[in-house]
Amino acid sequence: MSGTRPHIQHLTSEEALRSLGSGPEGLPEAEAARRLREFGPNALERLEREPALRQLLRQFIHFFALLLWVAAGLAFAAGWRQPGSGMGSLGFAIVGVILVNGLFSFWQAHKAEAALEALKRLLPQQVRVARPGRVVLLPAWEVVPGDVLLLGEGDAVPADCRLLEAEGIRVDTATVTGESVPKTLDADPSDEESVLAARNLLLAGTGVVSGQGRAVVYATGMRTEFGAIARMTQQVEKGLSPLQAHVARLSRWIGALSLGIGLVFFLLGHRMGIPPMANLMFTIGVIVANVPEGLLPTVTLALAMGAQRLARKQALVRHLPAVEALGSATVICTDKTGTLTENRMEVRRLFVAGREAGHEAVPAAVGSLPSRAAERLMEGMALCHGLRRVEGAWRGDPMEQALVAFAEGLSPQAPGTPAIQELAFDADRRRMSTLHRTPDGLRLHTKGAPETLLELATAVLAAEGPAPLTDALRRQLQESQARMADAGLRVLAFATRDLAEEGDAGDLERELVITGLVGLEDPPRAEVAEAMAICHRAGIKVIMITGDHPRTALAIGRETGLLRGPSPVVVTGEELRRLSDTQLQLRLEAPEILFARMGAEQKLRIVQALKRKGHLVAVTGDGVNDAPALREADIGIAMGRSGTEVAKEAADMVLLDDHFATLVRAIEEGRAVFDNVRKFLTYHMSSNVAELAPYLAWALLRVPLGLTVIQILMVDLGTDMVPALGLGAEPPEPGAMDRPPRRPSEPILTSGLVIRTYLWLGAVEAAAGLSGFFFVLGRGGWRLGQALGGEAVLYRQATAACLAGIILTQMMNVFVCRHPRASAFAFPWLGNRLLLAGVALEALLLMAFTYLPPVNRILGTAAFPAETWLVLLPFPLALLLLEEGRKVLLRRRGWQGGVSGTARSRP
Ligand code: ATP
Repeated sequence: MSGTRPHIQHLTSEEALRSLGSGPEGLPEAEAARRLREFGPNALERLEREPALRQLLRQFIHFFALLLWVAAGLAFAAGWRQPGSGMGSLGFAIVGVILVNGLFSFWQAHKAEAALEALKRLLPQQVRVARPGRVVLLPAWEVVPGDVLLLGEGDAVPADCRLLEAEGIRVDTATVTGESVPKTLDADPSDEESVLAARNLLLAGTGVVSGQGRAVVYATGMRTEFGAIARMTQQVEKGLSPLQAHVARLSRWIGALSLGIGLVFFLLGHRMGIPPMANLMFTIGVIVANVPEGLLPTVTLALAMGAQRLARKQALVRHLPAVEALGSATVICTDKTGTLTENRMEVRRLFVAGREAGHEAVPAAVGSLPSRAAERLMEGMALCHGLRRVEGAWRGDPMEQALVAFAEGLSPQAPGTPAIQELAFDADRRRMSTLHRTPDGLRLHTKGAPETLLELATAVLAAEGPAPLTDALRRQLQESQARMADAGLRVLAFATRDLAEEGDAGDLERELVITGLVGLEDPPRAEVAEAMAICHRAGIKVIMITGDHPRTALAIGRETGLLRGPSPVVVTGEELRRLSDTQLQLRLEAPEILFARMGAEQKLRIVQALKRKGHLVAVTGDGVNDAPALREADIGIAMGRSGTEVAKEAADMVLLDDHFATLVRAIEEGRAVFDNVRKFLTYHMSSNVAELAPYLAWALLRVPLGLTVIQILMVDLGTDMVPALGLGAEPPEPGAMDRPPRRPSEPILTSGLVIRTYLWLGAVEAAAGLSGFFFVLGRGGWRLGQALGGEAVLYRQATAACLAGIILTQMMNVFVCRHPRASAFAFPWLGNRLLLAGVALEALLLMAFTYLPPVNRILGTAAFPAETWLVLLPFPLALLLLEEGRKVLLRRRGWQGGVSGTARSRP
């Protein structure tokens, strides 16, 4: 292929096809399959993916792992100098922990990545490919050099191609050249040497903004220009999401703090005259007890699990950070048609020659209308559209389908005279026209927004024939439009013109004769009203941005519950153009605001203004013109069904069912992810306090050490792991949408959360561990001040009891950590299987730690007397009662707090 590539823009279309061994009808099936085997799938190789071995190795050399390696090294050194001290086995235990933890983190990272990859595959990009005699729809990865593609507005170009035919095709090449103004292309040979400058080449990664064309593929996959760029940019380290970065910072901070605490203990021990070796051991213990080893991988996995849950709810996340951004969204800018409404249109009312018909039985009512005018209107409805007939059915804009269906339903035998020229619909012109040949000459049919057509019209078709468009007639039309719009109908005007010859838009669309108005109903989607109510409760502002008429927008806004107040602010596209950025920002203060008759590029301005006001903005979009706004938004959301490939490429998330309610559910999931991170932090940190307490007791009271370093590690990296993961998989908590959005700057660890974990939950767990420890010691005849060897059975039994106390209370803690205010009993018991599995595993491990002799030997534990359980068991119950009591008090006070237990506020 490489020989043809530098020259393909110089060739004629025929030469280009020949050079690629293809023809105007495309490649035969068998040849395409052969080429796919030869050239491989049309996909970018994932260059940036680290080899698995390197990824695995990295788990063993990060900061915390290094800390543990040092600890293990010290233990080995001590064991070597003092054989029989147990230090050697501690060294092995720490190494074991590093390995287990590294493998677990590796597994988590791998699982998170696999989950995202799987999501990507759910929404393959589709392309229309020519095969001899037909056109097929293929996933973009199957495209091969020589394939002839059919590209139209909104399509993403899947491979580098040479245009063969072009009809006003314009592409957005921003992704490849950085150029933001769409480039007009044609199929003529070009003298340009540069591939980027040649006007007959379509490059992979660009998007078709308008027009259509046929093109032959000359490079696929990594051989495309985009592939070359990907090769360069993929090597750049991918950044962490804000939440991941936050957690990474947090764990470094906690790590540094544990080092500091360790150092203080070391100095304390030194002054107390503890032998250096033993002192070092304690220090290592203190540090290890507090280091949050598995935090970051757990957060990453929590995000990925959130993304998976979203996919099950029809929301496909393309970028992981979008999951958490969703949780703090403060504004949603939504489209109307298709998102709030069904996009299933039906003609409800007609206005023809001064008479309005409709309300109920429209088709029957047509008969009562002046026949000549009605006929001309029906003709326009049947002919003026951009639909394509595919396998006997119309495909395209649902509104046009409704119009055609209505007209065809009335006169099915009417001959279709296909358009000889089409002036396509464009959201800025708000109209479209088609030109037809009739026995009497040429006839133009135009349809569009009434305001636009009234500007171009000079007459109205009355019962007796065309009448000049007087002020009175104009008013009559406007009043009819207002009546229909107030009923929530989308109103279109139709016009016609008989003329002598073809011409361009400006020439054709003038001196129009209005034939009538049509009101179409597009009912609000089920569940939208409920989703709106949720948004209101959740403190999320919803702003409708529509191309439709303000009155229609207002009516739909009221019907869906988006607007509740008596006087919402309505800004039209024309007004917006006159507003300065400052004025726009001030307008956006209004509690209820909607934007109607918006031009294509205006969404972007609104998003920018909202962001300047400190909002976190979610924006929906489907068209090519929406791409800039989708990219600018904090969360760009494209429509899976009606959306163009270009919009999907630009978005962070794709709504597979286009539904507003799905978006609101996605926000709820986003909030859940953040809440879950807090839940498992609370859970994990509570046991850290319990682990630290024996060291405090040892340092301050000079009693034997209640918990050894290995035992600490068994909790942190053994029993705590799966339940913490289970908390990360919690579904959204009840009431997650009853509070205002989280401030993006709000820290994960709030003072409320620290107090609750350290001074409340942690304190109960510490009491459990120490009570078990001293009960066994006391029962065994130990007295204060008496020294105990590490190998003494009594000491081993006592530490086993301490460990058991902590694990038992942690088993209860999982359940109370499920919500900061709601009762642990408010959750369905079997609702979270991972969590239950985690608790079961915890129980099993506890039994093994206590009763299994080989495990006893490694951990330095021994089975304690059975009655110790009677001392230990009240503690989990106490934890439950105290937490439930605290929650009851909070609920009584009507506390509107989040998981942190602190009140949340809007920006
Ligand atoms: P929404 O926000 O409801 O999705 P929109 O932004 O998609 O609306 P546009 O498609 O931009 O709205 O349409 C704007 C206006 O242009 C419509 O209100 C209608 O008057 C007119 N219009 C829409 N589609 C067509 C069409 N196919 N032919 C002619 N006029 C159209």
